[in-house]
Formats: sequence, structure tokens, C-alpha cells
Amino acid sequence: MKHFDTVIIGAGPGGYEAAIELGKAGVKTLLIDKTKERIGGTCLNEGCISTKNYLESAGYMAKASYFQECGLDMSIRGFDLQRLREKTIALKNELRSGVVWQLDGAKVEMMYGTASFVDAHTLDVSGESVSFDTCIIATGAKVRETPALPLDGKKIVSSNEMFELEVLPKSIAIVGGGAIGCEFATFFNAFGVEVTLIARGPQLLSGEDEDISKTLLRAFKKSGINVMTSSSVQKAEVTQQEVTLTVEGEAVEEIKCELVLCAIGRDPYTQLLSLQNAQVECDRRGFVVVNDAFQTSQKHIYAIGDCIDTPAYAHTAYTEAQIAAGNVVSGSANSNTHVNPSTIFTHPQIASCGIKEKEAQEQGRAVEIKKAFFKVNAKSKILGDDSGFAKVIVCAQSGVILGASIIGVEATEIIHELLVAVEKELLYTDLKEMIHAHPSVSEIVRYL
Ligand SMILES: Cc1cc2nc3c(=O)[nH]c(=O)nc-3n(C[C@H](O)[C@H](O)[C@H](O)COP(=O)(O)OP(=O)(O)OC[C@H]3O[C@@H](n4cnc5c(N)ncnc54)[C@H](O)[C@@H]3O)c2cc1C
Repeated sequence: MKHFDTVIIGAGPGGYEAAIELGKAGVKTLLIDKTKERIGGTCLNEGCISTKNYLESAGYMAKASYFQECGLDMSIRGFDLQRLREKTIALKNELRSGVVWQLDGAKVEMMYGTASFVDAHTLDVSGESVSFDTCIIATGAKVRETPALPLDGKKIVSSNEMFELEVLPKSIAIVGGGAIGCEFATFFNAFGVEVTLIARGPQLLSGEDEDISKTLLRAFKKSGINVMTSSSVQKAEVTQQEVTLTVEGEAVEEIKCELVLCAIGRDPYTQLLSLQNAQVECDRRGFVVVNDAFQTSQKHIYAIGDCIDTPAYAHTAYTEAQIAAGNVVSGSANSNTHVNPSTIFTHPQIASCGIKEKEAQEQGRAVEIKKAFFKVNAKSKILGDDSGFAKVIVCAQSGVILGASIIGVEATEIIHELLVAVEKELLYTDLKEMIHAHPSVSEIVRYL
């Protein structure tokens, strides 16, 4: 049986980042995933990279009319989804090679198969045994399913199958008002697909500030998306031509569409691991239970990324990987003290960090809200989209910036300045006094 200092299960952003860190530190490291194509995990294969590449084309489509007004003599004769699909596959392959190159450079060994624990120091990988001193579980999350919408991979699909579509449907119903549902609504709407977005809660993006969600809702409605909030799908009837959804909201309605995307959430992917054999604890939702240093109930087994109950972002997985790998190497118990940004690539984009306005109210904190609209920002107008606003939440006593939310053009880029402000506890006056280049979208801060 082969023995390693550290074995990592799952080659997504969490797993490969930890493996590269450990390999570079001279730790004899094995990284396991089901197949070579899984290197990069959900993020690379059916998550961040694919969605953002699709959305970039949608963004150009949305901006086209503005640049036509600016004199650009172009006509859009159509959109070939098959070509976008092929370009995205090429991009993923290129990025995967980059990860493999880094893993090779760090002398990380790879093994392909499904890993499960035999005991607290041994794994079975599709019939082969490996033993380890320490292990990092980075198995991510998988699509959540519901009996009301049985996935068939053809008419009722999850986000995984979206990137296999070769032609656009005429109409789509997207079930789920979270980031994934809203991003796909943006994509299909930009290309003229009739979109119905069905959200269970009273607002889209329940984790974001209420006025951000309301602004997105207005923007979606203005661009022709049929948004149904406080609604849930009771059943789906599939025929050769279409799907009929029975949706219960204020009334019971029938929605007919060519395709249904079920985007009701993702669950930790821990079922295949036989965690009980290693006495590693899970909570009732299936998340691996960890302490602040990412150690499970077995101190030599760590867990990071989407399989633990922290924000489900690739950037969060990267940070947790670096901290957990550092703890493995040094035997320390460092925790993640960084502020996590949330980024949603809808049109308009949304980004936030730190405390939300409602949270501050619930905690009874005395805060001041500083808000500026992109209507006053020259660069956003030059970019063809001056919708939305930025706001910061400032402690009324100390003047420290506690949180920030943005909805508008380039929100996912300009959030980083506010992230520094929140993480480093800068004062509102520090931020205001800084010189911001003109004309830039970041200049919105001058107006806060
Ligand atoms: C549609 C979509 C869009 C997204 N967009 C963004 C975005 O824009 N920005 C962002 O930050 N995040 C985004 N995310 C979330 C992001 O993809 C995840 O947070 C990130 O991939 C989590 O990384 P991870 O390493 O924890 O797990 P994963 O990336 O899920 O990787 C886990 C790996 O473990 C493997 N595995 C599981 N079980 C086993 C086993 N028993 N044996 C062997 N291998 C196993 C899986 O095959 C998988 O490759 C998006 C997700 C989706 C679905």
C-alpha cells in the first residue's frame, strides 16, 4: 500500500490549491479526483469559469445598442451557442493545463477514482488502498434535487447540463432565485429567450441587502424577465414539446416552457466518503463539521471548501486551502479571519462584503448609511450602463466602515477597494480622502 504525508480528496479550487501549497513545502502529497477531467472541480468544469465566459458574451449583447448609438456600425445577425460552448471547452482545457502544470511543479502525485475512508488513516480509491498521516477533504458540493422537478437531463436540467446545450431554447423557466438562477436568467434574457424566474422567497438573492435585491428585481422586470417571487413549483409535466409547471404563489398558475433549469441550491458532496469509518462527524445537512482551524472531529483530518458550512465560493475555498495547508505543515491552528466578498455576475452585477444594513438594524447597532448612485459616475455612463448604486455601512460612533454593497457596472471588480476598507477597519473619511482616478467606476466612492 502506498503511503503519503498528506492525501487530499477532491481536485477543485480547495483541493488543488492545498496540494500545490503542500507540495511546494516539501510534503509528500497525493491529490485524488474521479477523473483527470475533474481537475479544477466544479469551478472549472461547470461553475465559475463556464458561467462567466457565457455571461461575458451576454454582457456584450446587452451593451451593443449603446455602442451602436456611439456610431459603431455593427449588426448582430444572431448568436451561435455551439461556438460559445466550444470556446468555453477550449478555455477550460487551457486553464486545466495551467493547474496541472502547477501541480507537476509542486511534485504532487495524482490518483483517479472515487475515494472513501476505510479507517482514520486509510482510503480506498476505486479498489486501491492508500494510507496517510494527514488528510484534507475537499469534495465540494453537488446539485440539490427536489421530487417536484425530477431532473431528466433533457427538459428538466441542472446547471451542470446547461453547458451541453447546443441551441438556445425559445423559453426557459428557472427555478431558484439565488446567484445561479439569477445569473442564468441574465444570460438567457440577453439572447432573447423568454425567461420565467421562480423564487421561493419574497426577494431574489436572499443573502443580499433588501434594496440591492429590489433593484435587481426592477432591472430584471425592465429587461422582460417574468419574475415570480414567493412562489414554488408543485409539479412538472413533461411532453415531447414542452414542460408545464404548476406554480403556487398568490394563486396557482401554469407555466409552459421548452426547458426548465432547477437551481434550488447545492448540498455538500460527502455521501461517497464513508466518513463513519474514520469517525469524522457530519452535521444533519451533510456538511463536514470543522473547528476554526479546519480540523474535523479527527484532528489529523481537515476539511475545506463547499463541503463545509462556509460561503460557497471558489475564493473562499482557496483561502481555506491555504490556511489548512499551512496548519498541516506547521502544526499550528490558524483560522480564516478574512472578510469574504460575495459576487454575483448578473446584469447589473452585484457585490458585497461585511455587515448588511438589515443585520446592523437587527443587532441594534448605530450606523450611518452612505449611498451614491452611478448616475453621477462618468465612467459608468461611458461604459453604457449607469444603473445601480454603491453603499457603505459606517459605525456611527467610530466612523469605521463595517460593510459595503454595490449593484452596477463592474461591481465585482470595484468591491475590492471596499473589501480592504472593511477588512482593515478603515474609516469612512480614509476612503473619501483617497484620490480616485478619473474617470473610473471606482470613483463612485467620491460620492458616498
Ligand atoms: C453554476 C455555478 C457558478 C458558480 N460561479 C462561481 C463564481 O462566479 N465565483 C465563485 O467564487 N464561485 C462560483 N461557484 C462556486 C464554486 O464553483 C465552488 O464554490 C467551488 O468550486 C468549491 O470548490 P471546492 O474545491 O470546495 O469543490 P469543487 O470545486 O466542487 O471540487 C470538488 C471535487 O471533488 C471531487 N470529489 C467529490 N467526491 C469525491 C470522492 N469521493 N472521491 C474523489 N473525488 C471526489 C469532485 O469530482 C470535484 O471535482 C459557482 C458554482 C456553480 C455551480
